[in-house]
Amino acid sequence: MPSSDVVVIGGGQAGLAAAFYLRRAGIDHVVLDARPVPGGAWPLTWNSLRLFSVARHSSLPGWPMSPFPDGYPTAQHVVDYLTAYEKRYDIPVQRPVQVREVGRDEHGLLVHTDNGTWSARHVVSATGTWWRPFRPSVRLPGRQLHTVDYAGPQEFAGRKVVVVGGGNSGAQIAADLLPHAELTWMTRRPPRYMPDEIDGKALFDIATRHGGVGELGDIVAVPAVREARDSGLLVATPMDDGVLADADAVLWCTGFRAALGHLAPLRLRAANGRIAVDGTTAVEEPRLHLVGYGSWTGPASATLIGVGPTAKATVAKIAASLA
Ligand code: FAD
Repeated sequence: MPSSDVVVIGGGQAGLAAAFYLRRAGIDHVVLDARPVPGGAWPLTWNSLRLFSVARHSSLPGWPMSPFPDGYPTAQHVVDYLTAYEKRYDIPVQRPVQVREVGRDEHGLLVHTDNGTWSARHVVSATGTWWRPFRPSVRLPGRQLHTVDYAGPQEFAGRKVVVVGGGNSGAQIAADLLPHAELTWMTRRPPRYMPDEIDGKALFDIATRHGGVGELGDIVAVPAVREARDSGLLVATPMDDGVLADADAVLWCTGFRAALGHLAPLRLRAANGRIAVDGTTAVEEPRLHLVGYGSWTGPASATLIGVGPTAKATVAKIAASLA
């Protein structure tokens, strides 16, 4: 059975940031990633998506993202950056390798994959949230889609489309569809735009200093959203079952949950579907670390700029435990 001091599950930005610090600490590690290509979830997002920060504030540890000529970078720019980052630091990613389950034996943790089992002294789980979209269970006659299914406005041209959700994805997709579809944007409460000067960098700073950013609002006013809002045409309406039922398509921008199914055999899940952590370390399994899932695993840890400090602290803890 192959073994490694640390097995990192997931080769998106969170897994790469962890690997960067593992390499720097000289700790033996391997990264297992289910996708056939680099970039985590980024290659699967829609074409017109723009980051909510400029390149230099969307960087992983060690190496800044190259400037994007036209302001806020596209998802493809992130994919190119993560691909190059992986090469630059010679990160030992094995793909495609799907981790099915993590269990334990008397020596350590066992990582069962579709290509054999690894034994590890520590496991870093960095599997993100994209793979577990949250879809409300409602029955409606039209097409029911989620953020993860959205590829761009073309297929909705002239159709009656409802976008549900008052967060960043909802606002960005609604703005994207506005010129093309017969759009209704539904939100449970009136949209809460953050002040225009707040971008991802400011959010990171605030999250790091104060813990939460919820009071600022729910939507970063990226240029496309700002433009649509200021035109007066992007207007949200309250939830309306009749309009939902009459739509050709409903796009549920209702968020994501952490993709933690592979950890089920460890029996660590708390009632809220998360795992109790101290920093990023599972309280009931100190050899397991969770990186990049959201504020519950580190301030702004589910962002490009925010995952670095969390990954660094995680590796410091692993290094201390292995010493
Ligand atoms: P992912 O990118 O999802 O990578 C996880 C990796 O783990 C994947 O490669 C996957 O194949 C692998 N994996 C999953 N399960 C397994 C398994 N069982 N076995 C093996 N491998 C597995 N952040 C910003 O900083 N700026 C932004 O502008 C921004 N915009 C966003 C817009 C949208 C629509 C969304 C959804 C998110 C956005 N984010 C943004 C947040 C965040 O940066 C991304 O969600 C990012 O993809 C998270 O990276 P990750 O490495 O944690 O997860």
